Amino acid sequence: MSRASATPQTVRVAPPLDGTPPLFAACGIALAVVAHTKTKTWASFADQWRVQGDRVLKGLVLTDEDRVLMSQYSWAVARCGISPKSTPMRCERCGRVCFSSSSSAAKCFLTDGCEGRMVAATKASIVRCEDEGKDSP
Ligand SMILES: [Zn+2]
Repeated sequence: MSRASATPQTVRVAPPLDGTPPLFAACGIALAVVAHTKTKTWASFADQWRVQGDRVLKGLVLTDEDRVLMSQYSWAVARCGISPKSTPMRCERCGRVCFSSSSSAAKCFLTDGCEGRMVAATKASIVRCEDEGKDSP
């Protein structure tokens, strides 16, 4: 049982798995931010952040790397949302990207005749800052 007056637990976004495309890593962070701040969409989060600054992050610490990655893919990050759901999907074969409200695997529909599989980005995990380094050698 924790008191509301306590300082919020400091958390951070877990790094993406090896081989995650940078676009997916950026959107994974964005989705984690939206989920953690309960702002539903990145656009809504950005509106609140402009007014309230990092307080909106509720203890979520974004590293410089996180921020740089998201700014590099700001066009995609801006379209991320949880409600309504909007996540990027990328064809494993032709590499084209679209945004979808579905995350179920589907055959590529972005390139005529492409038989590639569409893979959706997933939300990054949120981990406690104290846990950082625990698994490190
Ligand atoms: Zn394709």
